[in-house]
Amino acid sequence: MIQLYIPLNFLGVIYREIKQALADMERLFGLLDQNREVADTPGAQPLVARGARVEFSHVEFSYETKRQILFDVDFAIPAGTTTAVVGHSGSGKSTLSRLLFRFYDVNRGAISIDGQDIRNITQASLRAAIGIVPQDTVLFNDTIEYNIAYGRPGASKEDIVAAARAASIHDFIESLPDGYATMVGERGLKLSGGEKQRVAIARTLLKNPAILIFDEATSALDSKSEQAIQAQLKEIAKHRTTLVIAHRLSTIADAQQIIVLDHGKIVERGTHQSLLAARGLYAQMWERQLARPDEELASSPLELQG
Ligand code: ATP
Repeated sequence: MIQLYIPLNFLGVIYREIKQALADMERLFGLLDQNREVADTPGAQPLVARGARVEFSHVEFSYETKRQILFDVDFAIPAGTTTAVVGHSGSGKSTLSRLLFRFYDVNRGAISIDGQDIRNITQASLRAAIGIVPQDTVLFNDTIEYNIAYGRPGASKEDIVAAARAASIHDFIESLPDGYATMVGERGLKLSGGEKQRVAIARTLLKNPAILIFDEATSALDSKSEQAIQAQLKEIAKHRTTLVIAHRLSTIADAQQIIVLDHGKIVERGTHQSLLAARGLYAQMWERQLARPDEELASSPLELQG
């Protein structure tokens, strides 16, 4: 009986972990109550990521048949570079990251990584290749160690501590009475927005993915924490293919490429300097943010003034 119990119990643990991991990913994307329509296609192959060039080719997408959200979205993120997407609230920025993660399939066009259509690769390998630092980091009701290790289940304590150090949260954790064993989450210690983001950064460092998605927080942290976190994000984005969903333009001025979305269409693209010189929607948003630095882009739709 005992012999039978142990493996079954072990399987139970694995099953719970997998279920938890899926639920967690959905919570990260705010998709808990939505149907997951996408399944591995028969014969799906694991992703073979080399530099991880990401390409959106003529992508059209709608959540519901009546309302199209993306129109002919066509851009590439060269391997190891950063592309930022800006645009007013509801323009479709976060939808791009959901599609790259394949929570939904595109209606037309394709998304590929190193030339492999993501519909033809296994979801497990796709999701292993992508790290997300979400807007609001979800902390599980567990220890802070578990919350960091979640980036790479089975990671050693040394690796967890190294990731926490690199994310500048190790000293804070050590200062807690129970250290890494401190319970956090809704029923445990509440962490500040900046501390939660650092946990997310440590998680991502541990996962070490080829592709990164930063869904920038809409609520700004105090400017000192903000600068420190921005510097860390830049560090982990180095040499990785990175998609930044930006709410404040100041944080993305040095991205290799900036894409401006308006009502689901790319209306401008270029570097910060070239977009300012073009004196279009981006330049207008920039001026508006300079005048009101605390205001998020998302707070009010911007229209081109004629
Ligand atoms: P924000 O800056 O406010 O985060 P966004 O540019 O990231 O906005 P998306 O979240 O991509 O915008 O949403 C684009 C559009 O798609 C919005 O009009 C939104 O209402 C709609 N939308 C998002 N998720 C769903 C869904 N699950 N079902 C139906 N419509 C959705």
